[in-house]
Amino acid sequence: MSDISTVSGRRAEQADQADQIEHHDVVVIGAGVCGIFMLYRLLEHGFDATVLEAGSDVGGTWYWNRYPGARFDSESYTYGYSFSEELLQEWNWSEHFAPQPETLRYLQHVVAKFDLRPHMQFGCRVARNTYDEASNTWTVELQDGRRVSCRVLMTAIGLLSAATLPRYPGVESFAGRSFHTYNWPHEPVDFTGKRVAVIGTGATGVQVISAIADRVGELTVFQRRPNWCAPLHNRPITEAEMADIKSRYDEIFARCRETPGGFIHGPVRQSMFEVPEEERLAFWEELYASPGFGVWLGNYIDMLMDERANAEFTRFIADKIRARVNDPEVAEKLIPKDHGFGTRRVPMETRYFEAYNRDNVHLVDINETPIEEITPTGIRTSAQAYEFDIIVYATGFDAITGSFDRMEFVGVGGRTLREKWAEGPVTYLGLGASGFPNLLTLAGPTAGSVSTNFPRGIEEAVDWTTRLLLFMREHGYERIEPTAPAEREWTDHVKEMYAGLLLSNARSWMTGYNSNVEGHDRVRHVIYNGGAPRFRKRLARVAEHGYEGFSFA
Ligand code: NAP
Repeated sequence: MSDISTVSGRRAEQADQADQIEHHDVVVIGAGVCGIFMLYRLLEHGFDATVLEAGSDVGGTWYWNRYPGARFDSESYTYGYSFSEELLQEWNWSEHFAPQPETLRYLQHVVAKFDLRPHMQFGCRVARNTYDEASNTWTVELQDGRRVSCRVLMTAIGLLSAATLPRYPGVESFAGRSFHTYNWPHEPVDFTGKRVAVIGTGATGVQVISAIADRVGELTVFQRRPNWCAPLHNRPITEAEMADIKSRYDEIFARCRETPGGFIHGPVRQSMFEVPEEERLAFWEELYASPGFGVWLGNYIDMLMDERANAEFTRFIADKIRARVNDPEVAEKLIPKDHGFGTRRVPMETRYFEAYNRDNVHLVDINETPIEEITPTGIRTSAQAYEFDIIVYATGFDAITGSFDRMEFVGVGGRTLREKWAEGPVTYLGLGASGFPNLLTLAGPTAGSVSTNFPRGIEEAVDWTTRLLLFMREHGYERIEPTAPAEREWTDHVKEMYAGLLLSNARSWMTGYNSNVEGHDRVRHVIYNGGAPRFRKRLARVAEHGYEGFSFA
């Protein structure tokens, strides 16, 4: 057989494979924290389901983000799944804020324990999902040409999973090694003696910078806007502490259910101005010295709503930065001037500010000297050319809607979700959109789960969605779709929930802002700011009223 006929034979085989469509009741896209639990529930209730995952293994966020210093800012014991007492009792967290490898191991453990892997397919990057009205099915087309069809399509594709690079000329031309933090190599990167650039000072950049400052030759940080960062105060969990945590899981999860963010930290429901100054300052010192998000989410309630209150705490934190950075000029550059504390996501740090006291760490304010291009040997700003061996892009994500935009969803009448959401997401409860029957967007734009301690939020979304499917099964319904009025009402409500919050004017991923994406360099209403308890109540009410706002057939 000639080479040509072998090739054409192979092509025919591939075409045959492409024509063989695998069918399931439910397809879940994504094998991260959300997709894993959704699959567990679906199998538990006897649905025929498969998970399609782009990566080569489970983990989602924790599979991709392997950069040095990656860890979550949720207390580890509030991040695990709560659905299985046995799992809670057998898993030991090693640190109060676990690092990425441990969280990845945890998710792998969950998948193995509940035997979920046989129902997962890896290396499946979805290109297009098309709804067919006549058969009431979705067809999922993968980038490699394979196709899978299903009655119900669920997305568990993450909120921070569409990584974005800056639009500087020459990004592709750099001859050294460069990576976005999200697409970090699987094998360790050797920083020893290397000249390293980090672009970006969000939660990710702050973690990378702190983790590599003492491992590199020279580190140059290119900062556009500084963020208000506060100490994480991480430490190991002792055996006795873990035993105590295991005995208190009910209490811990009950506490998480009470707070707007699903963390153990909730606001002090009192204006800071009602508290004598001395008492207030003592409380702030205590918050600054305690682990986790308390300093942000456990503060006086007016700190995030009232400009004057916010300015008071902002001054307090600015002084903390001044006290930690030796060079006053560098300290001023690290202090945000365009937004108050907590109006963007607060990066939690470990000796981040102290990194700038090292002789090998340099800060470049790119407002003063903008980056003009990436060159084969490094970065050229308006002031000088820098040479680097490694460039780290900690430049963030096209958040919330980006992961939806990177694949196509074609609904009724050929209309795409991208078109529908061109001016911002329009959804019902963040869980579905009219014109897209049988598409359930778990943790989709404007869902309550998106603005909470993620596992706490998604457990709720998954359990609610499971009950919805059982309701459909019980009533013999095969088609579900949000109604247009319900969707309008929800979208208006989402907008209302931004009002009164200082974060609503800040340019950050929480307001859908990304300077590197056409059309997203403006504030958009992409998350739900009403808080987890309010969202939970709303979900319960919708269910009690026979899933009002959805039409069934
Ligand atoms: P991010 O907060 O959006 O930060 C991106 C950074 O890159 C910003 O400093 C941004 O500057 C800068 N940047 C973007 N485009 C640029 C450009 N063209 N030129 C120069 N600088 C540019 O993204 P992230 O740090 O990856 O964090 C995203 C979210 O992921 C976090 O807020 C958090 O929710 C989550 N996360 C969590 C953890 C954790 O739990 N510990 C850790 C990491 C990330 P501007 O501010 O000027 O736009």
